[in-house]
Amino acid sequence: MSFVKGLKCRECGRRYPVELLAGCEDCFGPLEVDYDYDAIAKTFTRDVIASRPKSIWKYRELLPLESEPVVGLSTGGTPLLRADRLGRRLGIENLYIKNVSVSSPTLSFKDRVTAVAINKALEFKLGAVGCASTGNLANSVAANAAAAGLPSFILIPDNLEHSKVAATLIYGTRLIAVKGNYDAVNRLCSQIVDRYHFGFVNINLRPFYAEGSKTMAYEIAEQLGWRAPDAIVIPMAGGSLIGKVYKGFNELELIGLLKDSKRCRLYGGQASGCNPIIDAVKRGTRDIRPVKPNTIAKSLAIGNPADGYYAAGLIPASGGWAEDATDPEIVDGIQLLAETEGVFTETAGGVTVAVAQKLVQQGRIKPHDLTVLAITGNGLKTLDALRLAPPQVIEPKLAAFEEVLGGVYRVA
Ligand SMILES: *Cc1c(COP(=O)(O)O)cnc(C)c1O
Ligand SMILES: [Zn+2]
Repeated sequence: MSFVKGLKCRECGRRYPVELLAGCEDCFGPLEVDYDYDAIAKTFTRDVIASRPKSIWKYRELLPLESEPVVGLSTGGTPLLRADRLGRRLGIENLYIKNVSVSSPTLSFKDRVTAVAINKALEFKLGAVGCASTGNLANSVAANAAAAGLPSFILIPDNLEHSKVAATLIYGTRLIAVKGNYDAVNRLCSQIVDRYHFGFVNINLRPFYAEGSKTMAYEIAEQLGWRAPDAIVIPMAGGSLIGKVYKGFNELELIGLLKDSKRCRLYGGQASGCNPIIDAVKRGTRDIRPVKPNTIAKSLAIGNPADGYYAAGLIPASGGWAEDATDPEIVDGIQLLAETEGVFTETAGGVTVAVAQKLVQQGRIKPHDLTVLAITGNGLKTLDALRLAPPQVIEPKLAAFEEVLGGVYRVA
């Protein structure tokens, strides 16, 4: 049973029934799923949630499915790790990392959004699904479509990392590389869904798809003992995740699940080579100036972010801020997280760590703030971005090993 009341336009408020729609027919504004929160609050308690298995579906009352999910059943339940060693390096005493880099099935936070979207495509009885992707979404749509037995068409810019291409092709999808950047890919996908009865997860399934991101907030709050953090640092591409994390914390407060009502400050990160949302926040406006992406953080390389206008408004309104990180700073961030916490993240996670460091230096994140860093993707997918020295090669002899050791260690 579902608590969805319907869809609602974020701009003009016009209401729609649950249907396949890319935007408002009156004003082209984005559509959002609207729930009956009073009814949810009556039965959706902390005890009920605690009694359910770890996955995004333990929060199903706040997700837009009408029937039981059939794919993406293992998605969610990723660890919230106390990060004291990284915290000492950054100057944060109360630091956690939300490690979504171990997400099932495809090692990025996109599994949360596609799990909702592909189940929704099955409810709508669509003949095929697809997406415009900067890489991680491609992996996740291909995997979940395969598991659902649906054909998929996945369009990507023609400059993506080899590992993200391979980790899409393997699922037997129709992968199409488009000459141009993500924004060109996205425009083409809009034309495709206008003409064919396909469900493109981030186009005409977007209102449902985007709701999956809220589960990051639900999990973080539950893992913190039903509290929101003081500060959260989130990497941004289209700017959807950060807004949905905000919506998620607000919903929990609305239905009475949070133990205190302090506001969580939102901090957004982007790469310096693609920072249209950061630029808007720093200029004190919500109006995005599109850019041409040029960065190793390809998963975040959206020059004209669909939800940038909203993210640029929410971030300062929450008391937060936005910063960007250069490519070398991103690589240093990846390395710092790996060396201090044993977590290997992709370039987007490198952005999170590098940006957190800047925000502490600027005094915006304070040492005592309960801070969560969103680590949204896995390092094995962006090996191309790293420049690591090859290992030393030795003969299989103890003497050769001892030469490397250099006599610092005592013999037992
Ligand atoms: C897509 C993505 C994001 C940001 O998502 P938006 O909702 O588009 O802002 C963050 N991290 C990773 C690894 C991603 O793939
Ligand atoms: Zn409207």
